[in-house]
Amino acid sequence: MKFIGAHVSAAGGVDQAVIRAHELEATAFALFTKNQRQWKAAPLPEDVIEKFKIACEKYGYGSHQILPHDSYLINLGHPVAEALEKSREAFLDELQRCEQLGLSLLNFHPGSHLMQIDEDKCLEKISESLNIALSQTEGVTAVIENTAGQGSNLGFRFEHLAKIIDGVEDKSRVGVCIDTCHAFAAGYDLRSEESCIETFREFEKVVGFNYLRGMHLNDAKSEFNSRVDRHHSLGEGNIGKTVFSWMMRDSRFDGIPMILETVDPDIWKDEIAWLKAQQKAPDEAAA
Ligand SMILES: [Zn+2]
Ligand SMILES: [Zn+2]
Repeated sequence: MKFIGAHVSAAGGVDQAVIRAHELEATAFALFTKNQRQWKAAPLPEDVIEKFKIACEKYGYGSHQILPHDSYLINLGHPVAEALEKSREAFLDELQRCEQLGLSLLNFHPGSHLMQIDEDKCLEKISESLNIALSQTEGVTAVIENTAGQGSNLGFRFEHLAKIIDGVEDKSRVGVCIDTCHAFAAGYDLRSEESCIETFREFEKVVGFNYLRGMHLNDAKSEFNSRVDRHHSLGEGNIGKTVFSWMMRDSRFDGIPMILETVDPDIWKDEIAWLKAQQKAPDEAAA
């Protein structure tokens, strides 16, 4: 079974995100549990936590269908001790918010070396950051997202994801989310079925589908191997629709939230409906 949705707004409270997902006829969703561009946020009020849980129950979203995303400010591989500490505190807070909401996954961007330390050192810091945060929380899996490799962001090679996982003590609480736009921009081709098979053969070899906890479904405005992160609506960009249709028919992507972060929220409902329809055999789903 495929769980398909979008990264919906939590404006007005996290419980509102659940309602927005339901309105899209989504079977999965992503959200920020606090303002993603600020370091600090007030704790989640008890009544909002309660309303969130009731809405999830009412509309049929289990924690395995929800992929919260952490703040963009956090850099778990920061080269400077003080800044690293600030990121680690913020990440712990994000995990605790997920715990409070009864969520089991937290999606994050691995980190950046800022040209001050080498890649391996930065990846080690990220693993260490995860060990610290995971040891202070329970029940939430840290889900590393692959990146486009813009600037000094790490996580654009499957090897980076594997190395971070390697340094995490509790392997049951670490996983990955693959963003199709980021993979394409980082040089993993997805434009034909053959290239999809090859890219995910490589993923299986280096990381393994046993670590796959989510997908971000985005077409790309950016060029292949450009290391530039620009999302586009499905079929409108340089990847095209083939990969999304292919994935919907591949059982290795079952049971995880598959989330649109495409650029036009007005067509999310149509994109979700189209993705759902692709699960049928190609001849049934033609057009
Ligand atoms: Zn993404
Ligand atoms: Zn992106």
